[in-house]
Amino acid sequence: MRAVSFLQRVLADRSCFLCGDESELPICTVCLAQFRSCDTQWTDAKRVAGQFSGFSAYWYEGPLRQAILQMKVQGEFQIAEQLAQRLASCVPPLPLADHPIFVPIPRFGQTDRDMRHDFPHVASRLLAAAFHGEDGAGLVAKIRRTPLQTQVSDPDRLTNVVGAFHLRSGAPERLQDRTVIIVDDVLTTGATISAATDAIQQARPHQCLYLTLARSRATIA
Ligand SMILES: [Zn+2]
Repeated sequence: MRAVSFLQRVLADRSCFLCGDESELPICTVCLAQFRSCDTQWTDAKRVAGQFSGFSAYWYEGPLRQAILQMKVQGEFQIAEQLAQRLASCVPPLPLADHPIFVPIPRFGQTDRDMRHDFPHVASRLLAAAFHGEDGAGLVAKIRRTPLQTQVSDPDRLTNVVGAFHLRSGAPERLQDRTVIIVDDVLTTGATISAATDAIQQARPHQCLYLTLARSRATIA
């Protein structure tokens, strides 16, 4: 059904979401070529919010920033699918890739069904399939509303998400001793990843890493 509606869209409107030029994919190859890669490997770089290990594919700027904003505001599922495929194609081999579990960052007050078309959920499903892992959607819940990370000043960003996530029942058993990969669209200060990591660590995973499509340049400590 999804493949059919995608085909219908493509047949009806073969144009790039970003530049409007003719394109069979939601984002054309010219726009894609302008994405700037940021990491070449899994890193342990220090973030403002602490020390995390993970990988971000591109810098959050230019056409990619435009695509992410469009995805968030207008919920363009086709863009999420295409970008999730880009992310999967540029992830370096996972360390200890023994059946990793991909956990999408959830939104507050949304059911799993509501979030099915959000980038983190789309990407977690796709990555789980690509890396012989497991989709961990629904294991972590966001238990309170937090201001958008882009709308608060830097020191506030670090505290406004503390304790915002918790494990759903049944999650500790599934996460224990596993390689857990938190999946999100943009890494800003790392405060969101940090808060989600804190919740996941309670399940005593083997390791907890992050994977994001983009990273803000302001992230570097
Ligand atoms: Zn384009």
